[in-house]
Amino acid sequence: MANKKVDAVIVGAGASGSVFAAALAKAGKKVVILEQGPDWQLTDLISSDFWGRRIKPASGPFLLEGKNPFGYVYQAGWGVGGAALHYFANFPRLLPNDFKIKSEHGRAHDWPISYQDVAPYYDKVAQDVGVSGDAKAEEIWRPAGAPYPMPPMKTFRHGEVWLKGCEAAGIRLVPAAVGMNSTDYKGRPACIYDGWCHVGCPTGALSNPLVTYLGDAKKAGAEVRALSTVTRVLTNAQGNKVTGVEYYDAKKERQVQEASVVVLAAWSAQNPRLMLNSATDKHAKGLANSSGLLGKYMMAHFSSGTWAMFDEDIQNYRGTTGAQFMSYDRYGKTSQKGAFGSSFIVAGSALKTSDLGGFANARLDLFGPDLAAFMKRAARGLTRIGAFGEELPNIENRIELASDKDEFGMPLAKIVHSYDQDAVALWNANFEEGLKIAKATGAKEVWSARGNMPTIHLMGGTIMGANAGDSVTNSYGQTHEIPNLYVAGPGIFATAGASNPTYTILALSLRGAEQLAADWSTVAG
Ligand SMILES: Cc1cc2nc3c(=O)[nH]c(=O)nc-3n(C[C@H](O)[C@H](O)[C@H](O)COP(=O)(O)OP(=O)(O)OC[C@H]3O[C@@H](n4cnc5c(N)ncnc54)[C@H](O)[C@@H]3O)c2cc1C
Ligand code: SF4
Repeated sequence: MANKKVDAVIVGAGASGSVFAAALAKAGKKVVILEQGPDWQLTDLISSDFWGRRIKPASGPFLLEGKNPFGYVYQAGWGVGGAALHYFANFPRLLPNDFKIKSEHGRAHDWPISYQDVAPYYDKVAQDVGVSGDAKAEEIWRPAGAPYPMPPMKTFRHGEVWLKGCEAAGIRLVPAAVGMNSTDYKGRPACIYDGWCHVGCPTGALSNPLVTYLGDAKKAGAEVRALSTVTRVLTNAQGNKVTGVEYYDAKKERQVQEASVVVLAAWSAQNPRLMLNSATDKHAKGLANSSGLLGKYMMAHFSSGTWAMFDEDIQNYRGTTGAQFMSYDRYGKTSQKGAFGSSFIVAGSALKTSDLGGFANARLDLFGPDLAAFMKRAARGLTRIGAFGEELPNIENRIELASDKDEFGMPLAKIVHSYDQDAVALWNANFEEGLKIAKATGAKEVWSARGNMPTIHLMGGTIMGANAGDSVTNSYGQTHEIPNLYVAGPGIFATAGASNPTYTILALSLRGAEQLAADWSTVAG
């Protein structure tokens, strides 16, 4: 039986799609969310590294190319909740300087909006999902806003040891803003500091979409259809409106869901792949791509981590996978000599044996009895500080369709990504500074967590801007060329900043969804 036409179809039940679903359903719209993965519930979240693998994607429909190919571990999701089902919930904001790099430094591009346009949405999201932190303390770096709804999280010795090291380097640490409950909040319990966030928090203390916006969306009547993989966005004969999407259901049968508005919230890499694959004679290069910028300016964060080993028990098994402390003291674009871009510093994450940043991976050079002896010490005495770095948008970092196809006959995409000299210089500068900080903590041993230059948090590909000549969407995520087609998520960021992206993703999605609901009669097809 054919699916009935709805007001809005949202592709992807992750962080950004959930916000659009909640706002539109609350505005009385009939909403269907199509999600390619399983319909995860809180009861599927099991505090174990082995069980945790079930809820994560093994790979994606992408061919990875370039000097620094993208990795999935710190960004990709699969199933209801998306990557934010098992993220670390560090919730820093972008700062005012992120929105005007071109005006201030003649580099990259300005955003079409300023920090002040997003700030009220940061405050609203904090109330909606529950953020713990000390907003007043952050105001040494940013304009004042509303206080967070919960006080900062508890701290532990493995975070507190960094206070001394950072002070010696002239770096101020303040309580990290995190999307976690330091107290009971809106019927969700306070965190118990067992450090299993990276495999999904089974209690709901972590603000994943299931217990926040997606829960609200379902209460307001939104329907979530899991195991439904979208392959194309459909357009009318004139090419000036989208009419719905094509997808393959749990039985791998082709379906069409007609809708007055389509919101693509399938993550930075999937959104351009879908838009490129939806080309028609009216949109020969893909939807909303007359500028040729669809799939261009892919950006990532890189991290420079530093380990410190103490002989005492610093309780590194307690806390959360998110940070205890954070600093924007190196956020100025020219803070590090000889490099360009912001850095954002975080300290004090709980460590498990084999998780992403766990202590089994801290000394890749050790084997056998040496590794066993190291792990015995590390289980009580190891801690880490990290600095995220900003990559500037580069048009050569891109997504294109490939000739290979997936099981639904949809072309795979190729993601080409290489860091430039600025990024490499910033990465190195942050390692050097990390070692200085670590030495000043009084730790027994310190070393850099150097490996291949990582690619964390994929952004760009559908960047926002002032017009169709310089970008794919406007600041609401609405495509310049097709008014009832929206894109949500980090893909619309004009530049990357160095802050973890999800707080900004949620704020921009709420801003876009509210605009869409308010302008519905002129936008909807
Ligand atoms: C281990 C880890 C730690 C992280 N820590 C942090 C952190 O501390 N702070 C922070 O800010 N961010 C963090 N992130 C990143 C954060 O989770 C993402 O930036 C965010 O979830 C992206 O939101 P999104 O809506 O764009 O995509 P997602 O939340 O990934 O949602 C996209 C959804 O779309 C679905 N989908 C994709 N293609 C299709 C299709 N064709 N049809 C139907 N559905 C589709 C996917 O299955 C997925 O569920 C972390 C991520 C990971 C994995
Ligand atoms: S540490 Fe807190 S937020 Fe993380 S999984 Fe445990 S209870 Fe949840």
